[in-house]
Amino acid sequence: MEFEAVIGLEVHAQLKTATKIFCGCSTAFGAAPNTQVCPVCLGMPGVLPVLNRKVVEYAIRMGLATHCSISTESRFARKNYFYPDLPKGYQISQYEQPICHHGWIDISLEEGTKRIGITRIHMEEDAGKLLHDPGGSFSRVDLNRTGVPLIEIVSEPDMRSPEEAVAYLKSLHSILRYLDICDGNMEEGSFRCDANVSVRPKGSEGFGTRTEIKNVNSFRFIEKALQYEIRRQIDVVLDGCSVIQETRLWDSTNQQTFSMRGKEEAHDYRYFPDPDLVPLHIDDPWIREIERSLPELPDAKRKRFMEVYGLSAYDAAMLTSDRELADYFERCAARSGNPKGSCNWIIGPLLALLKTEASGIDTIRIQPEDLAELIQLIDRGTISGKIAKTVFEEMAASGKKAEVIVQEKGLVQVSDSAQIETIVQQVIAANPKEAAEYRAGKEKLMGFFVGQVMKASRGKANPQVVNEMLKKMLSA
Ligand code: ADP
Ligand code: MG
Ligand code: ZN
Repeated sequence: MEFEAVIGLEVHAQLKTATKIFCGCSTAFGAAPNTQVCPVCLGMPGVLPVLNRKVVEYAIRMGLATHCSISTESRFARKNYFYPDLPKGYQISQYEQPICHHGWIDISLEEGTKRIGITRIHMEEDAGKLLHDPGGSFSRVDLNRTGVPLIEIVSEPDMRSPEEAVAYLKSLHSILRYLDICDGNMEEGSFRCDANVSVRPKGSEGFGTRTEIKNVNSFRFIEKALQYEIRRQIDVVLDGCSVIQETRLWDSTNQQTFSMRGKEEAHDYRYFPDPDLVPLHIDDPWIREIERSLPELPDAKRKRFMEVYGLSAYDAAMLTSDRELADYFERCAARSGNPKGSCNWIIGPLLALLKTEASGIDTIRIQPEDLAELIQLIDRGTISGKIAKTVFEEMAASGKKAEVIVQEKGLVQVSDSAQIETIVQQVIAANPKEAAEYRAGKEKLMGFFVGQVMKASRGKANPQVVNEMLKKMLSA
């Protein structure tokens, strides 16, 4: 029997507001424990929450970007549970009337695009953080994060493989960053995902029993956790047993999921409308105003890059995954007049450089116009593509402009036939055996000769001239 997976994801994105959702405390990450707290977020008796307007605006931004309907009336609800990181004993969330519902996004897959439904997006407050003593004898509570605004984005169970789940997550991540409402930092927990997964015989209609994998904090781990969990569930079914509904955790050391709690231990949150917060009315003009302020989103940009610059779907998707990277490309392409060349340099050497330096596109030394000038030097034949790589590295290291490096190091490409002819003669004279073999028909030795000439010219000879010259002189 062939099986297929059914996956639905719940994503928590921390919003980039300056202050918390129901009080004026700072949301900055990394401050000393319990220094960004007040009676409201500490859950003192008698205090009242006041909703942060920016949080609502950001939630609407995400809703509009993901084709959701925006509720003109929504409500906050209390989700009751006891845990030391939750001083009030309940989390303010939304339950029956979320702010956004019934949306979708298109994800890019190798076989084309696929539409994934978004059930709802709601606003809620984050809980605090427990810091466990390595010795295991106690834990400390840091309440700086208590009350930090989140949106939870719940998908329909529309994904059928770990790859689709990752594509969906990357797409959400990219949209949030384009909208500038979430920094997307997974290590700091600004973007977290719970993955619900079940399996069923391929072609069947109903859903199998699902498990939920909690709080996996990297795209790679999510893919691995889902792969493992799908395999595990299929094995359970093949063994003639039933999957039990439970919450599981990913153990990255042992590369497996394990049970955290079963259905019997599942929380009963006793949701009810929060009496401290009035129903939220949103008027249409505000929604339209927010809509007008939306930037060009990744999907639209990707399509434009393909049409305007003639890039492949893959290249366009790479460049538009990040808004700053896309801007970098457009500036480079505009100055160099060579979009394809700009794309290749950015996707190749530039991204590799960012990776080795572990830096971002916003802090890189090589400005898009500088890279454009390097590309122009190649396009005009001033330097060879090979030399350009060296120049690029030097640009990254010293911050100097391409032209300056080329002048200083004397890297200008030699296209002068007389100069190249001399080198070609020397190389042929130094390798009589190979020359004879070539003449006897071993034509693949051409590569060897080109290599020798390039080496002798220290990479500066124009490869095209070298090729022609070698052919002429070897057959002479
Ligand atoms: P809960 O409130 O317990 O988290 P929801 O009904 O809100 O449950 O569903 C949460 C997520 O689980 C959604 O993303 C949904 O698409 C997904 N989901 C629901 N049923 C299944 C299933 N049988 N298999 C996989 N995912 C599922
Ligand atoms: Mg859930
Ligand atoms: Zn506070």
